[in-house]
Amino acid sequence: MRVRVEVIRGDITKSRVDAIVNAANPSLLGGGGVDGAIHRAAGPQLLAACRQLGSCPRGEARVTNGFNLPAHFIIHTPGPVWQGGIADESQVLASSYRHSLLLAERMGCRTVDFSSISTGVYGFPLARAARIATETINEVIADDPGKLRRVRIVAFDGETENAYKQALSAAYFNIA
Ligand code: ADP
Repeated sequence: MRVRVEVIRGDITKSRVDAIVNAANPSLLGGGGVDGAIHRAAGPQLLAACRQLGSCPRGEARVTNGFNLPAHFIIHTPGPVWQGGIADESQVLASSYRHSLLLAERMGCRTVDFSSISTGVYGFPLARAARIATETINEVIADDPGKLRRVRIVAFDGETENAYKQALSAAYFNIA
């Protein structure tokens, strides 16, 4: 069965899905932006669970329970900090999406919502990040979708929503 890939506008802490993907930092101990919002909404048990995990290298992913969130699991992935394109940022970003999705598949997830990894405080150029995200998601699901049925990017603002929608339609155009 085909996996649907969609872009929606919203607050990922409200997503009622099997797993949400958090734009974390390598300490996994919470931060600003979407990470802070997820920790506030999930409750203090999340911080305790993250402490147990230890740190996580950029481009990799770790999973915790969703605790007080409507999502069942939280997948935490520290994306790259944009440094002008000289430090393999694109490969690390692709790796964040790939590892997160493979981990979701291993957990048997059917529905996964991603936040826009690295495009906030980490400064990754939005259009480029959106292209890498949609291409990597499409590659992973084409290879082996597991039980996945739907993958969404949850954009917090209109500019982000438009960037991912454009990247998604470009990706479909390339496939066709
Ligand atoms: P990073 O440090 O990886 O750049 P940020 O949290 O600073 O991560 O930003 C990543 C994206 O998450 C940005 O597009 C930001 O607007 C968005 N964001 C912030 N809060 C939320 C939320 N509650 N739901 C979904 N996205 C959010």
